[in-house]
Amino acid sequence: MKKKIAVLPGDGIGPEIIAQAIKVLDTVARRYNHEFEYTYVDIGGCSIDKYNRPITEEGMQICKESDSVLLGAVGGPKWDDCPPEIRPEKALLAVRKELGLFANLRPTKLFLQLASSSPLKSEIVGGGIDLLIVRELTGGVYFGAKKTENVDGQLVATDLMPYSESEIERIGRVAFETAMKRNKKLTSVDKANVLETSRLWRKTMHRLSLEYPEVEYGDALVDSTAMQLIKNPSQFDVIVTENMFGDILSDEASMLTGSIGMMPSASLSLGTLGMYEPIHGSAPDIAGLDIANPLGTILSAAMMLRYSFDMAAEADAVEEAVNRVLDLGYRTGDIMQDNCKKVSCSQMGALVSQAL
Ligand code: NAD
Repeated sequence: MKKKIAVLPGDGIGPEIIAQAIKVLDTVARRYNHEFEYTYVDIGGCSIDKYNRPITEEGMQICKESDSVLLGAVGGPKWDDCPPEIRPEKALLAVRKELGLFANLRPTKLFLQLASSSPLKSEIVGGGIDLLIVRELTGGVYFGAKKTENVDGQLVATDLMPYSESEIERIGRVAFETAMKRNKKLTSVDKANVLETSRLWRKTMHRLSLEYPEVEYGDALVDSTAMQLIKNPSQFDVIVTENMFGDILSDEASMLTGSIGMMPSASLSLGTLGMYEPIHGSAPDIAGLDIANPLGTILSAAMMLRYSFDMAAEADAVEEAVNRVLDLGYRTGDIMQDNCKKVSCSQMGALVSQAL
């Protein structure tokens, strides 16, 4: 197969970790006889420096015309004082909007070799954690109307949290389909005891659940889910939730593994176009030192193979290669353990490529 990939390294450690994912993709292409064509696009601070905007129209067009987008990370202290309309993160919101990326998939997997990195006790994580949060990404309170007004002599701020039935159904279908491909268990998280949007959310999810009788479906309140993620994370397979709850719960879940550098993510549209990126930021404190962990980016590339290119065998092979390298005891500094071999970012990329 021939696929066009827009590659957006971004700032900080972005270019270093992306280079490792490209190494691995090149190995996949050779081994499985595919052709990946990369077009590099500036995004975030590096684009602000060159063009005074976090992504150019031309760059956006390249993303739209590609089969998928691979992103490093954006931002850093250098651009913290930019005016809000040209801040580095603005480009991420713009790409999500322009590409219609409404579904954010964040797997949280505890590699058993790294169980001691988890802040949770071994009796809780000993059986492993393998859950996936499906977060609605383009609706809800982050996108609803906002205002601050003077009422009776004091400022009052309001953020609306709208959700339409079709928006809920769209993300619900992604979640049920994802659950069908995993362990067929789906937990829908809301706050239906107080929020009107959550009541519509629950009603819509219940309707959809009738179409997926094989999926063991359950509702949960967001506050209780926040507790259960710490108390018994292995009870979850797929969790689906709205934008703000998903933002918070997915960060909480990512911490369960104790290694932010290992976590991939995918943002999907209705078609096959998606954007794939590690969940961490640009880590300016370690940028340019060749010590960052590239595995979150490499695993994001694996998600790209699986979800955008329908290359399940290739995705499995990349994930197995990561597993093998960890089994052999190779670690970047952030996940270093006793009796393991410390390697650089570029060495880790090369090791995963060799394992493939
Ligand atoms: P961060 O994720 O960049 O870093 C947090 C800590 O984790 C740092 O100590 C860093 O060194 C470490 N870390 C992160 N990724 C690592 C990796 N792959 N390997 C080893 N260690 C790693 O979060 P932050 O420091 O809060 O943010 C730094 C910048 O990144 C900010 O400008 C922020 O706005 C931006 N940011 C961007 C994104 C994105 O592009 N999607 C996401 C979050 C933060």
